[in-house]
Amino acid sequence: MLTYKAPVADINFLLKDVFGYYSHYEKFPEFEEATPDLVDAIFQECAKFCENELLPLYQSGDKEGCQFDNGNVTTPKGFKDAYQKYVEGGWQSLSHPLEHGGQGLPPSLGMVKSEMMGTANWSWAMYPGLSHGAMNTVETHGTKEQKELYLTRLTEGTWTGTMCLTEPQCGTDLGQVKTKAVPNGDGTYNITGTKIFISAGEHDLTENIIHIVLARLPDAPAGTRGISLFIVPKIQTDQQGNLGEGNNVTCGSIEDKMGIKASATAVLNFDNAQGVLIGPENKGLECMFTFMNTARIGTALQGVCSAELAYQNSLIYAKERLSMRSLTGKKNPEQVADPIIVHPDVRKMLMTQKAISEGGRAMIYYAAKLVDEIEMAKTEEDRQKADDKLGFITPILKAFLTELGLESANNGLQIFGGHGYIKEWGMEQIVRDARISTLYEGTTGIQALDLLGRKILLTRGKSLNTFTKEVLLFCKDKSVLSKNPHKRQMNKFIWPLSKAVANWQQYSLRLALKAKKNRDIVGSASVDYLMYSGYIVMGYFWAQMAQSAYEKLATDVENRDFYRAKIKTAEFYFNRMLPRTKSHAKTMMEDPKTLMQLDPELLSFL
Ligand SMILES: Cc1cc2nc3c(=O)[nH]c(=O)nc-3n(C[C@H](O)[C@H](O)[C@H](O)COP(=O)(O)OP(=O)(O)OC[C@H]3O[C@@H](n4cnc5c(N)ncnc54)[C@H](O)[C@@H]3O)c2cc1C
Repeated sequence: MLTYKAPVADINFLLKDVFGYYSHYEKFPEFEEATPDLVDAIFQECAKFCENELLPLYQSGDKEGCQFDNGNVTTPKGFKDAYQKYVEGGWQSLSHPLEHGGQGLPPSLGMVKSEMMGTANWSWAMYPGLSHGAMNTVETHGTKEQKELYLTRLTEGTWTGTMCLTEPQCGTDLGQVKTKAVPNGDGTYNITGTKIFISAGEHDLTENIIHIVLARLPDAPAGTRGISLFIVPKIQTDQQGNLGEGNNVTCGSIEDKMGIKASATAVLNFDNAQGVLIGPENKGLECMFTFMNTARIGTALQGVCSAELAYQNSLIYAKERLSMRSLTGKKNPEQVADPIIVHPDVRKMLMTQKAISEGGRAMIYYAAKLVDEIEMAKTEEDRQKADDKLGFITPILKAFLTELGLESANNGLQIFGGHGYIKEWGMEQIVRDARISTLYEGTTGIQALDLLGRKILLTRGKSLNTFTKEVLLFCKDKSVLSKNPHKRQMNKFIWPLSKAVANWQQYSLRLALKAKKNRDIVGSASVDYLMYSGYIVMGYFWAQMAQSAYEKLATDVENRDFYRAKIKTAEFYFNRMLPRTKSHAKTMMEDPKTLMQLDPELLSFL
């Protein structure tokens, strides 16, 4: 019942007009193939694959779920076939380096592909999605032999990868990891322990699965400083990748869960499984950050995917469903009632969804451009600059966009009324599937602590200042305004944005001063602070989109309606969503006393 059309016009607007992707690609000779013609052709093919192959499996995959039988996992009907087509189409290799069989196209294009696939079918997209993180980890930290052996097959897509961090006693606090790695003296290690909640940990899509596993060497220091990273294949192989014996990695069960039911979430038992060390001893968590950052942006993308799918479907419904009359007089006099889209409350939900999916997409594409810059940097200084910027916005993208993705999914369900609650329509599935995005890859609370604790307070606001400088430059830049004949219209975005940025800096400073007196303020303020920051960051991109739309209005007569809609959505954002910062600012500055003063023993009298 659900429909999905890849939003190619919006994607192209961001790539061409807002972010200047093609002049960005021209800076890197490695990306010379990424011409507008080739990219357009890729998008068209990708859209077809998503609309015709992946979307039809979205609801059936949820209904059927994955089946577990004696250590084996069967994915829902059609998943294997679609994966086969995905591999044959070369989709997995699209934006990976040429040396291991990749097509060498920019990582940012890979992000657009992931968006389309993830919107059409998030559960399915998780299987190839997890592999990208594994590939990036091997690419960054692996030896030449490890790259040759693992990257070739992962790039083809004939093997997939996983990320094995979580154990029964710990998900957030990885310092508690117990899985052991004992050296065999020949460069291999015996890995023993239990990992839980491992996405794509076991399935029937590929002949082998490459697990990237956190474990402790004998006598390693306690806590996070004693964790190392290992590559542990499900099936052992020779250096050419020929499959050998099983490797004592067994799937104990898969989880019966709220959503993403077609994505297998496995308990994996490692029982003297043979693995090799990747990266230096006891630096596993640092190496794993490569994986986690990729995965965090990938999860932020889930927010946009949920928002987009919910929006597209609730918009269709809101135009068709008839109920009562518009408060300003009949809009549809020939029918018994007006469509619900005439009602301001329904319109508010739709506009919120639209602002979230388009604003969120812009945030992701901005980050994707930074990923290109990091990967292609010619000097350490350039790499560090882009990396710092990406590091600063990653927790905002992950937590803010997934929280808003969930809001949009909920709005979609609400627009369908009681029908939204009925499975057949698919809207409740979007809510169930979106719910996990605020939990895995670090909960919203943990992302918020990362932002306020590590990225703001620990750097004494350095990364915030770098980012706000960029925003203020956009606001002040004479060329921004002089290029724009609609200077007066842009002011309605520029002034509130400049004011919000100035407040952001002030509040951050005040929080830092308060934190010196009471550390609990970091934890009590952090989620509000992150959401507050997120609305300002999204405001920056809405202002940029409005500016590009004004410029294009003057030259691109054919698509004027598109640009007008952009500007009106930006107006909605500044009028109805940016003001949410006020409420977050109020609560984040409050003393933690009322949160903490009640003794845990007195929280209940049962
Ligand atoms: C469907 C699914 C798929 C997953 N896929 C993977 C995977 O592929 N690989 C993998 O390794 N893991 C995976 N996970 C695990 C996931 O990343 C963890 O569940 C998540 O990070 C939270 O850890 P936890 O469940 O142990 O919660 P806990 O760490 O026990 O946290 C419980 C609550 O306490 C809060 N909390 C904890 N510590 C603090 C603190 N210091 N300050 C403030 N609040 C705090 C948390 O925010 C949370 O609200 C998956 C989980 C699910 C459900």
